[in-house]
Amino acid sequence: MQISAMPLGQLTSWPAEELSLSKLVYARRIAPLSASTFTELFNRVVGRGRWLKAKQTRPLGSFFGRFWFAFWLLACLFIYFGKLAMWTHCKPKLSNCEVWLQSLGQAGNQKCKAWGKRPIAFSKGWNQQAEPMDQQCSSQHPRELFARKEIGVFCQEQPRIGNPYLEDAFLQDYLKSQLPTEVFADVSLDLEQFGARVKDEIDLLGRECELNPPQLKQFDAWGRRVDEIITCPAWKRMKAISAEEGLIAEAYERRYSNWSRVHQIAKLYLFAPSSGFFSCPLAMTDGAAKVIESLGIPKPLKEVFIHLTSRDPAKFWTSGQWMTERRGGSDVARGTETVALELPDGSYSLHGLKWFTSATDSDITLTLARSMTADGQIQQGSKGLSLFYLKMRDEEGKLNGIEIQRLKDKLGTRQLPTAELLLNGAKSLKISAEGRGVASIVNMLTISRIHNVIGAVGYMRRVITLARDYATKREAFGKPLKAHPLHMQTLARMEVQARGAFLLMMEIGKLLGLEETKKDTEQDQHMLRLLTPVAKLYTGKQAVAVTSEGLECFGGQGYMEDTGLAGILRDAQVLTIWEGTTNILSLDVLRSLVKSQGKVLDAFFSTAQARLKVALSVSELELSVQIVQNALHKLKQFTQKISLKGEAGMQLSARDFAYALARIYGGVLLLEYAARPNASATDIYTAQRWCHQDMCPVDSEDKAGSYSTGAASLDTSLVYDKHPVLKGRL
Ligand SMILES: Cc1cc2nc3c(=O)[nH]c(=O)nc-3n(C[C@H](O)[C@H](O)[C@H](O)COP(=O)(O)OP(=O)(O)OC[C@H]3O[C@@H](n4cnc5c(N)ncnc54)[C@H](O)[C@@H]3O)c2cc1C
Repeated sequence: MQISAMPLGQLTSWPAEELSLSKLVYARRIAPLSASTFTELFNRVVGRGRWLKAKQTRPLGSFFGRFWFAFWLLACLFIYFGKLAMWTHCKPKLSNCEVWLQSLGQAGNQKCKAWGKRPIAFSKGWNQQAEPMDQQCSSQHPRELFARKEIGVFCQEQPRIGNPYLEDAFLQDYLKSQLPTEVFADVSLDLEQFGARVKDEIDLLGRECELNPPQLKQFDAWGRRVDEIITCPAWKRMKAISAEEGLIAEAYERRYSNWSRVHQIAKLYLFAPSSGFFSCPLAMTDGAAKVIESLGIPKPLKEVFIHLTSRDPAKFWTSGQWMTERRGGSDVARGTETVALELPDGSYSLHGLKWFTSATDSDITLTLARSMTADGQIQQGSKGLSLFYLKMRDEEGKLNGIEIQRLKDKLGTRQLPTAELLLNGAKSLKISAEGRGVASIVNMLTISRIHNVIGAVGYMRRVITLARDYATKREAFGKPLKAHPLHMQTLARMEVQARGAFLLMMEIGKLLGLEETKKDTEQDQHMLRLLTPVAKLYTGKQAVAVTSEGLECFGGQGYMEDTGLAGILRDAQVLTIWEGTTNILSLDVLRSLVKSQGKVLDAFFSTAQARLKVALSVSELELSVQIVQNALHKLKQFTQKISLKGEAGMQLSARDFAYALARIYGGVLLLEYAARPNASATDIYTAQRWCHQDMCPVDSEDKAGSYSTGAASLDTSLVYDKHPVLKGRL
């Protein structure tokens, strides 16, 4: 009978066999029983056992009572003297607690063996191997497992990277499929050796850079202003390694003609995620070398170019790129306030404040400033901007009219010194024609944006490599993570994104190589112009999404700083911001359309269609090809009516438009790659998965009314819902 269904008043009339302590306690909880009723019922319950009844009246008076008392007394004496004997025989080093545990452990192990179970390993110190909890004897009390080592016996196995070249089958296959045979043999050998260096040396240095961020020493002990940026030895070593490995030189020596850029990019891709963000100064160094080369390496810059592209660590220089000022980094034309005063010797003295300057420990920099005319006039807008070169320090090591205000306190990229600089008469050389600063620095931006793509793809690859290794080591629900299909699906989706991004990166590398060896067509030039901002903005976003997902693959450990994993996400976040934010680059894509009078888009459509034809021959790819062709068709239709949407409508669609370009071209590249004769089943699967996304978001959003006439004001209303700004009060 259920106690809840029982009238409480009848409890006392219940037969004793049907009463139990729990029923009694429950009855007392749901309704107050008088003390006398409760005592009576209690006596009835406990009185069921005869010996207990006897105990109530004559303690130890029954036969059973005497027997139990004698038994417990003997047991206690046995345990006590047993322990005493153990203490006297133990090593003097062991604490009482350890002895106690050891004896418990041994006793427990004997019990385990007797029951046919595996014995417990208590600690390594006792020459026993710790084993996972689930393999241990379940008869042990948790206190016994955790008492000595409060952290318990289970340790997590760390995910590791091996040689990143040898572990990256996709990279190897790609290079093999693209490079001429003899170039591939050379490049592959170099990358294998470099990969070993990344694993054994560079990755550890990178971690050291993370743990020892740069510091600014503004004054010496005697109060003199020194503005010294103190970097760790590992950071300095990265500079030497960059020279030794020719990470910049490779692109300018052109040993492999137009393939040199592909080689350099593959190497930087292996380097970036282990580099402790030394990839940033390299990006700007490459950019500066490119600007100087595109200017025809003028005589005053010849030495500089040699230093920037040197393989000799003693000669190798790095460069900064100072564009952002307090009034704005996106709108450089309006944001630049720095003024250049011409000196009698034809050089210039710069005065202004640079708000973000990364790699402030570099040897040289390129920067924008406005020249002041003899009558003190300064031209505003982009036409007033010229490009200047300056050295950070003079021959004695003193800063060149520069004060380092402070180092930035950043979310990530903490390994990298990023500073605010006051230019207080920095001596410099004008290297562009007057007013052609923006046009001249564009080459630098193209290169540093490509490096941004390399960093993004490199980070994606790194987090996937670590996560897939971890999936073989970590167990959940009794099996490794890799045996959980949903976990594998998560990793596979990340892999698809990384592969699409990789092909975009390499495509740009190929186009740049063709341009630099003058083997490019006009179509190639348009494609390079269009794909650079598209790939930069798209892969930056992908990197944040994939590294975030990647961290989740490690569970709680992914969120921990000392695993080194959290830093990957913190660092990846910058990829969407510097070298142009997503919106600014989307607008840049539109600008390229307008400036080329649509030629970049014509090049896009014709190249995409031509490359898709190759994939049509593979039956498994037919559906995916159709999806991409359909997306191309929708995109074309959208571009035909985009001008009708006016300036505001065009701007509203810019981001989705750029995403459509990235997804479609990523699809084209994956399909073409999957259609090559020796493509694998995973190549086909990757292409199919990629094409499963919304390939033309600009079309979907257009149909949803996102760029309609009222859309902009609706967006503002939504953002500032009930906010004073809508009432004109702000
Ligand atoms: C770690 C780090 C290192 C850096 N190092 C350097 C360096 O070495 N050299 C250097 O020159 N700069 C450097 N930068 C600066 C960086 O390039 C700029 O922060 C970036 O270009 C954005 O400029 P801003 O900060 O002025 O943002 P803003 O221009 O103020 O932009 C703010 C927001 O407004 C959006 N926005 C702006 N205009 C528009 C528009 N027309 N339409 C739609 N949206 C718009 C942007 O997308 C952004 O989201 C660094 C930045 C960081 C974080």
